[in-house]
Amino acid sequence: MVYISLTFTIIICGSTAVDPYEGFNFSQYVMHIHLISIFPDIFESFFSTSLIGKAIEKKLITVSFVNPRDFCDDKHQQIDDEPYGGGDGMVMKAEPMIMAVESVVEDMVGHKSFKIVMPSPAESIFDQRHALSWSSFEHLIFVCGRYEGIDVRFEEYMEKMYADHFVKVSLGKFVLLGGEVASMTMVEAVVRLVSGVIKESGSWQDESYNPLKGMNNIEHPQYTRPSEVR
Ligand code: SAH
Repeated sequence: MVYISLTFTIIICGSTAVDPYEGFNFSQYVMHIHLISIFPDIFESFFSTSLIGKAIEKKLITVSFVNPRDFCDDKHQQIDDEPYGGGDGMVMKAEPMIMAVESVVEDMVGHKSFKIVMPSPAESIFDQRHALSWSSFEHLIFVCGRYEGIDVRFEEYMEKMYADHFVKVSLGKFVLLGGEVASMTMVEAVVRLVSGVIKESGSWQDESYNPLKGMNNIEHPQYTRPSEVR
C-alpha cells in the first residue's frame, strides 16, 4: 500500500476556488485519533455506536486514549492546582499535559502527518474547512481541558515545539465543562469525511458548508415517504 501524507491549505481567491482535493483519494491510510483526557469514559458509547463504531470495526480509524493523570508523579496523581494570583477554580498543570502529548507523538506510526487540537472557547471557531482539511491527516490528537483550562505554558510549549501542527479552536461562544464533548463534535465532523465511513463518499461536496463553494451553500430541504404528512 502506498501511503500519502499531505497537508492542505484551501485557497479561495475571489470567486475562483482552487480545488486542493482534485484527484486526491482521501484517507489512503488509517486515521488514528488520540484523545488526551482525564475522563475517557465519556467517549465510550460515542466510539462504539453507529457509523463511528463501524468505522473502527472496518479499521478505517483507530482510537486511543491517554490519561494525563498517568504523568502526575505525586501520590494522588493530582492534575490540577490553584491558579497563581488567586481567582476561582482550578487550573490543569502544564507538565503532565505536555508529557501526555509527547507520549502520543513518540508512538505515532506511519508518515506522521498530524494535528494537535486544543479545544478552547476563546479561539477562532471550528467549521467545515477544518473538518475537510483534517480529514487528510494520519493522526489527530485532541487535548481536552477541564476546570478553568490548562496552564497557558502548555500551549506556549506546543506552539514552540509543533508550530503549525498545533491548533486551538472553539466550538462557539459558550463555555463547556471540558474539551471532551467539543472533541467528539470535531471528530464526528472529520470522520464522516473519511473515505468509506459513509456510503456516498463524495456527498460532502453537495452538503451544507462546502469550503469549495464559499461555505454558504445550504442543502435543499429533504423529504421521504409517505408523500403526505399531516
Ligand atoms: N476558563 C475558561 C473556560 C474553561 S472551560 C474560559 O473562561 O475561557 C474548560 C475546558 O472546556 C476548556 O479548556 C476547553 O477544553 C473546553 N471548552 C469549554 N468551552 C469550549 C468551547 N466553546 N469550545 C471548545 N472547547 C471548550
